[in-house]
Amino acid sequence: MDKMCNRCCETKLYADFAKNKSSPDGYSSICKKCKNIQKKSYRLEHQDKIKSYAKEYYLENQERLKEYSKSRYKSNESSSEEPE
Ligand SMILES: [Zn+2]
Repeated sequence: MDKMCNRCCETKLYADFAKNKSSPDGYSSICKKCKNIQKKSYRLEHQDKIKSYAKEYYLENQERLKEYSKSRYKSNESSSEEPE
C-alpha cells in the first residue's frame, strides 16, 4: 500500500509516513523526510527570534542577575570560614 506525500508528491510506503491519529487514514499527509525538512526550516526561521528573545531576557534581567550574583558573592564571602 502506497501513499502520496502532499509535499514532495512522491508515492511512498506507509512506513515512510509518521502516524497521525487526527488524519483520516491514520497517517501524516507528508512523508517523514519532508517532515524533517519542515522541522529544520522551522527551527532555522525561528532561530533568530529565539536568540533575540534570550538576549532580551538577559538584558531585562541583567541588573537583577548582577545584584543576585553580587549578593551571593557577599554572602559567600561573609560565611566563608575556610578551614585551614
Ligand atoms: Zn515528502
